[in-house]
Amino acid sequence: MQKGHIGVTTDNIFPVIKKFLYSDQEIFLRELISNAVDATQKLKTLASVGEFKEELGDLSIHVNLNSKNKTLTISDRGIGMTAEEIDKYINQIAFSGAEEFLEKYKNDANAIIGHFGLGFYSSFMVSKRVEIVTKSWKEGSQAVRWSCEGSPEFQLEEIEKESRGTDIILHIDNKEYLKEEKISELLNKYCKFLPIPIVFGKKKEWKDEKYLETEQDNQINETQPAWTKKPGELKEEDYLKFYKDLYPFAEDPLFHIHLNVDYPFHLTGILYFPKIKNSIEIQKNKIQLYCNQVYVTDSVEGIVPNFLTLLHGVIDSPDIPLNVSRSYLQHDDSVKKISNHITKKVGDRLKKIFKDERKQFEEKWDHLKIFIQYGILTEEKFWDYAKEFSLLQNVDGKYFTFEEYKTLIKEEQTDKEGQLINLYTSDKESQYTYIETARNAGYDVLFMNGELDVPIMQHLEQKFEKSRFVRVDSDIIGNLIRKKEKEQLKLSEEEQESLKKMFTGHLPVMDKVRFELQLDALGESSLPIVLTQNEFMRRMQDMSNLQPGMSFYGDMPVSYSMVLNTEHKLIKDLIGKELDEKNISTVNQLIDLALLSNGMLKGESLTKFVKRSCELI
Ligand code: ADP
Repeated sequence: MQKGHIGVTTDNIFPVIKKFLYSDQEIFLRELISNAVDATQKLKTLASVGEFKEELGDLSIHVNLNSKNKTLTISDRGIGMTAEEIDKYINQIAFSGAEEFLEKYKNDANAIIGHFGLGFYSSFMVSKRVEIVTKSWKEGSQAVRWSCEGSPEFQLEEIEKESRGTDIILHIDNKEYLKEEKISELLNKYCKFLPIPIVFGKKKEWKDEKYLETEQDNQINETQPAWTKKPGELKEEDYLKFYKDLYPFAEDPLFHIHLNVDYPFHLTGILYFPKIKNSIEIQKNKIQLYCNQVYVTDSVEGIVPNFLTLLHGVIDSPDIPLNVSRSYLQHDDSVKKISNHITKKVGDRLKKIFKDERKQFEEKWDHLKIFIQYGILTEEKFWDYAKEFSLLQNVDGKYFTFEEYKTLIKEEQTDKEGQLINLYTSDKESQYTYIETARNAGYDVLFMNGELDVPIMQHLEQKFEKSRFVRVDSDIIGNLIRKKEKEQLKLSEEEQESLKKMFTGHLPVMDKVRFELQLDALGESSLPIVLTQNEFMRRMQDMSNLQPGMSFYGDMPVSYSMVLNTEHKLIKDLIGKELDEKNISTVNQLIDLALLSNGMLKGESLTKFVKRSCELI
């Protein structure tokens, strides 16, 4: 038997492993099984090039839990190791500048493990002793046992071992990992799609009121998950089934995108557009990141563009440097390329679906909308794609691209300054009167009530020159799209004053709402009184609800203009009149009507209005 010192330059790496990696303990199993998979795949490669000439046999990796002996064993039939190889790969750990690095990344086990190639040593996070029993594939190899108790001393001895490959025997000191359910859970999380069969005990069957073991091996993984296949080999059902494997409780997705890149980096994966109705359920299921079919994480921020983190599915790339910190990732060139590539793929795919299956696309728009708009607002590169398939919906439920909509309204809705005015409503019920007025004037009205519609309008106004969005109730109809100079008021100063006086004292008093009186010649056939809300102020307030930093606008009172139509008979009749009981009643009635058509007449005021109306009849 040989005894020796593990070659580390710091005194002892084991306390470090136990202390710093504690939060991510469970990855030990992923690391050990990945090593077993690597060893098996290397043997397959040797066989394929003719260097290994014997039978490969069953290459399954076995995970065995022995709770009585308190051991967990991972056995493979891969290339194994000779004593020299153990010395080289296990005993000599390159470990310079360790302390500094560990301090920096103490919360990032992936970075630490990757940096030092500590995969194997992560087993000491959960074990008081670890044994390696191994026999190399090379002819006439001597099997060896390496054993270490989490101190710099190890033992190495020659032993008898019949078959080629490696057993890693963990003498577990954390009871948690002696539970079958726990190991099952970890295998399911990290190993579900590994390319070599992983067997954990025997399959169980429900019999005589309990689960009984069968003869059949319990293989826990799918060795050829959908994303590793060619798109041509897969049918729609296969994509759906894979989605259900990933997210058993999710609703069926809308579409999928199969990613398959060889150059200039390797990337495979399948992304799904989930059904998203509101922002609350957005982050329930996440994209899973794999590296050669080994699960790494489901936090892909920094690797895929922000708006695409809303998608579901799998990305697998050996080219994403996982052993560096997240903040570093965002500046990494290859990661940037990957991120841009994914944006492009998603853009292209949506474009194609829009072109080939427009009706379907429109039907799914309600779900797609939030995701596409989020992309437009946050990812400059996505705009180039999205501007061609992003849709606007009008109050009749018809859909238009930006270009189509422009063509539709250009004729009627260009004002005298050459500005294209897009009219919209955020609420078909409460803004009904205004919508009708606009439509009667020959205008089209968009329906914009989505969570991101307000910032999207801002964005479109910046992107398209001479194009504005104006809510139907933000001004009287003649001012919404001003085509000629304003009509001059035909009233004298005194007449104007007398009208204003009559109404000012009767304007409604409401909390955080301000009313301003305005006179305008709107024509005989228009309504006598109209309530409007300035587009700029209202939009600032809408935006402030989205962005906490803008609360200045949110705190200001909402201000409305109460516009009197000086050409309407009812208003004209009031000019120069006494404020007697009858006229006061008319003024109040008119004001209430304006409030009513804005959905603002409520409570006591509404009751008074009803009473007064009865009296007038
Ligand atoms: P890494 O896998 O990142 O190289 P590890 O510490 O996990 O770092 O493993 C070190 C080396 O030990 C591996 O590169 C491999 O050569 C060898 N090794 C580990 N596990 C096995 C195994 N099951 N079979 C054969 N060789 C192994």
